[in-house]
Amino acid sequence: MKLLDGKLCAESLVKDISRRVAGYVDSGLRKPHMTVILVGEHAPSESYVKSKITSCKSAGFESALLRFPEQIGEAELLAKIAEINGDHATDGLIVQLPLPKHINPQNIINAIDPVKDIDGFHPTNFGRMTLGQKAFRPATAYGICKLLQFYEIPIKGKHCVVIGRSNIVGKPISIMLSNDFEIGNATVTLAHIETPRELLLDETRRADIIVVAVGIPGFITEDMVKEGVVMIDVGINRLESGKLVGDVDFDGVSEKCSWITPVPGGVGRMTVAALMVNTLMAYTDNFNLE
Ligand code: NAP
Repeated sequence: MKLLDGKLCAESLVKDISRRVAGYVDSGLRKPHMTVILVGEHAPSESYVKSKITSCKSAGFESALLRFPEQIGEAELLAKIAEINGDHATDGLIVQLPLPKHINPQNIINAIDPVKDIDGFHPTNFGRMTLGQKAFRPATAYGICKLLQFYEIPIKGKHCVVIGRSNIVGKPISIMLSNDFEIGNATVTLAHIETPRELLLDETRRADIIVVAVGIPGFITEDMVKEGVVMIDVGINRLESGKLVGDVDFDGVSEKCSWITPVPGGVGRMTVAALMVNTLMAYTDNFNLE
């Protein structure tokens, strides 16, 4: 078993980005700029936002964190987004999810200008990604692709099983792995909560690659996989003990895997790195650079 080291791959991607940024800055341009909106107080969101801001520094980007109280109304938040949409000095805008219950997240996502939508959640970007056109690709799914590419894991012609169909992870990674992208051309099964257990087991036991994003600790057990499987564990679950674990029973499953992502240090790191890739694209598009 070998580890798909998201930390190593992310650092390499961010280093490349920082070199490119240094070149642009040397030529007289301003730095790329990411704005993050954070509403309310939610401990995991605080930690995700912190790692995005830290990564911006490593990439040579400027960033701004705009905090709003839990009680902010949807209209007020939409007005703030409209203001940032019109600001040429911001290349990429993220609204950290989840939002308080009184705010409809889809209304917020739809309000972000697609050219600044570095999360890739806007219907325009999602649609373009699905059609194989240039787009900001949802960062977790894009990060997984970058990680597989970094370790030269063969994808073409392989049988992939994706478990979980959320708009931010399962759905986009199933599309990206099956599409005719630079990484893709796999045969993909997308499983979800209505997938009968026996069918799920049939699929996972013959899968070459499994991507699991259900948010259930220990969901994938040793008896569910074949020898040599490539295991991508997207889950981030905090146990009562405070320990962070994925959706895979790592101790039981890892020995059967050819490759596996650790949690932490796997997909999470790649999500942030992919956001940096998307921000650089927003910046180069903003300035019509190569
Ligand atoms: P989500 O929106 O809650 O979606 C979970 C998906 O899993 C749903 O599609 C659900 O099916 C499916 N599911 C739940 N129980 C299942 C079961 N027993 N059998 C088969 N499918 C089942 O979650 P998410 O946002 O995709 O996140 C999933 C996990 O990844 C969480 O632990 C989250 O913290 C983590 N995450 C990590 C990163 C990262 O950067 N590493 C990024 C995002 C999320 P239905 O659609 O039918 O309900």
